[in-house]
Amino acid sequence: MKIIVGKNSGFCFGVQRAVDGVQEQVSIYKKLKCLGHLVHNEIVTGILENKGVDFVDDISQVDNNSILAIRAHGVPESVYEEAKRRNITLLDYTCPKVAQIHTKIKEASNSGYQILLIGKKDHPEVIGSKGYAQNVIIIESVNDVYSLKDYEKVFVIVQTTFSYDKYKLIEEELKKKYKNIVCVNSICQSTKIRQEECKTIAKQSDFMIIIGGKKSSNTQKLYDIASSINKNCIIVQDENDKKIEDCKKYDIIGIMSGASTPKYTIDKVIERLNNNM
Ligand code: SF4
Repeated sequence: MKIIVGKNSGFCFGVQRAVDGVQEQVSIYKKLKCLGHLVHNEIVTGILENKGVDFVDDISQVDNNSILAIRAHGVPESVYEEAKRRNITLLDYTCPKVAQIHTKIKEASNSGYQILLIGKKDHPEVIGSKGYAQNVIIIESVNDVYSLKDYEKVFVIVQTTFSYDKYKLIEEELKKKYKNIVCVNSICQSTKIRQEECKTIAKQSDFMIIIGGKKSSNTQKLYDIASSINKNCIIVQDENDKKIEDCKKYDIIGIMSGASTPKYTIDKVIERLNNNM
């Protein structure tokens, strides 16, 4: 059996930075609250909880004068305002690339643009970015474009982990609809490179394994991409998934992971394959 592992598997830069930072801080403070799960990966979340990290859903669950970690996905501006009001010290691990989106949304809105944010409505990064202007409309698909009103000038920006191909389709429709339009492709290069490599490996393999958390949208996107090319494709959270046994009858196995999947989970899956399951 030959195994092809994507070179761009494992944590992206932003997630690695946040996980390292929180691990370091919890070793100092022993207990640390973090707003939302640091990454969409139950294994990583469990390890951090055992170390003393308490994941909370809302800043209202955090005491005044305490410390709160912010994950790579970022948060709405109102969280910074509330933290300041209640003297909560923020350990801010918002990915710098996400922070750039916040700045651009704010600037464009202040300059009179209608903001169109392409992304998944319920994704934490999108919820965070939406909180940097009053006039942000979320676009999830080409269909959403048809119901948009006329605006004098529009500013388009996109969730960092959105599918590049889907983004291009939406952008094309928006450009047909609006004359005065500024489009910023803020898809993270690491997402784009990972998706491109996923396509290549899906073509080269007889069977494809996508590894990632159940709630990880970028993992799901990789699965959509790979399964559209190679129908022998599965998505698993870790090495314990029984579906991995399906690859027994194939010669070339491709592996790719989402940005929130730690390297040790990928290594465990490879180990299971090498041990003939
Ligand atoms: S995918 Fe890119 S933008 Fe998103 S957290 Fe990772 S490095 Fe940052």
